[in-house]
Amino acid sequence: MRDIVRQTSSYTPPTAAGTGRDAQSPPKAQNLQSAKDAASSQTAPSPNAHGAGAGREPSDEVSLSPEAMRALREEERGDAVSPQEDPTDAGGRPSAENPWGSGKDMEEVLQAMRERQALEDLDHYADVYDNPGGGDPDGIISTGDLDDIARGDYDREAAIRRLVDLGVPEARVDRTLERMGRSAQYMLDNEEFRNQIDVANDFGGDPDGDIARSDLSRAVFQRELQLSRQGALLPGQAAANRDSYDTVDTSNAERSAQAIQSQERQILEAVNSGQPISFTNANGQTEELTVRQMGNTGGATVYEITGADGHTLRIESELGGSENRVALARIADYYTQVPPELRDTVSSFELHRKPDETAAATYFSSNDHVEFYDGLEHLNEEVFNHEYAHGIGFDRDGLGEGVLDQIGQFFTGRDGEGTPGGWDDAVEADGRSISSYGDTARKEDFAESWAAYMEARENGPEALKRFEEAFPARYAILDGLYEEAMG
Ligand SMILES: [Zn+2]
Repeated sequence: MRDIVRQTSSYTPPTAAGTGRDAQSPPKAQNLQSAKDAASSQTAPSPNAHGAGAGREPSDEVSLSPEAMRALREEERGDAVSPQEDPTDAGGRPSAENPWGSGKDMEEVLQAMRERQALEDLDHYADVYDNPGGGDPDGIISTGDLDDIARGDYDREAAIRRLVDLGVPEARVDRTLERMGRSAQYMLDNEEFRNQIDVANDFGGDPDGDIARSDLSRAVFQRELQLSRQGALLPGQAAANRDSYDTVDTSNAERSAQAIQSQERQILEAVNSGQPISFTNANGQTEELTVRQMGNTGGATVYEITGADGHTLRIESELGGSENRVALARIADYYTQVPPELRDTVSSFELHRKPDETAAATYFSSNDHVEFYDGLEHLNEEVFNHEYAHGIGFDRDGLGEGVLDQIGQFFTGRDGEGTPGGWDDAVEADGRSISSYGDTARKEDFAESWAAYMEARENGPEALKRFEEAFPARYAILDGLYEEAMG
């Protein structure tokens, strides 16, 4: 829409690595440091962990009853339990002594457990199953890939490096690879289950031997909704905020475990049903949201969040299903706190697996697009609001919408710098810095100020008052934008 005008600024689309970069977040070192500081009083997230929930070690194995565990162990020794010979077989019915049943029931339980294990392994370690012989992951696990893993015919060193990157402790790598081999074999041996996953996100398609991340995510969401309804799904890890403003206390900004659990349940209900749901954000505001996973998107997993105002935010993710659940709940929480009239200043997010050397996230003004790096590591409220603020800053900077001719003079020649009119003067008038990163450029000062303002607003009237006293001129502009957008 406004892209043509925006491309006249110094920003360019992300055509090649290292170019077009508008690194909008604090330098990595500072960012990690403050994240560590913030985390030291809580549970410290491992910088490498990308498993189910940021910073949480990927769950190693699905939980089994003692009986099922024993049966699986025997089977692994080549000593499979035979229902007929099982002396505990009492007609296969569960009993007080043997709540999992035995015989035929036991076989069904084991089958379900192996199925669940296989799905979890493929989802958590998709980057290892994907082209295990070499080459970069392409988002697709082919039947050939499964065969290579099952037969142990792959680049073991590369697989170990990928597992460690995914947060598996080195001491457990061998065990994990062994189990992954069994999961691959299970997939190969069970065509019906394999085909179910194969077409999970390909509406109307036939099985083609390719399991995409989008298929896995869809299947994981179906599984997790069942668990969630039973109260058996652990909530994802709370995000670690940067906490880098001198004057704004962000310590209570993150959601409680109960709030996270409830929001993730709402996300699972929304995606699985395709119907609007009532989503309650951390501030207790409830909004009707539609959260859809788009079909037939190849290896990529694509979601769309549409709020009551009708604007749609597109999210393209390289992550696994469990991580997508966590990511969508966070995004929905932060997104529903953005005043509706300001939401269309950003149109899409991309969630990358790999870390970036210099940035937690990047905003691209040419297409109102934000990219987050390093899995869930930097997907927190402050970075979200910082990047969203760039969208707002470029939207309200006097360019675009054909209004330049009429009102350009109001913006004192500073149009296209990613700040609303009068921002320079406000910074001068306040006479103090919002954060060290804010000092690197005016647009960064605006982004940091907006994020701090949103944080203060979330912390209540007293916090907002303190912010206003510290930054009266900036506050006047920020609050004006907010209130006007709220209608
Ligand atoms: Zn920035």
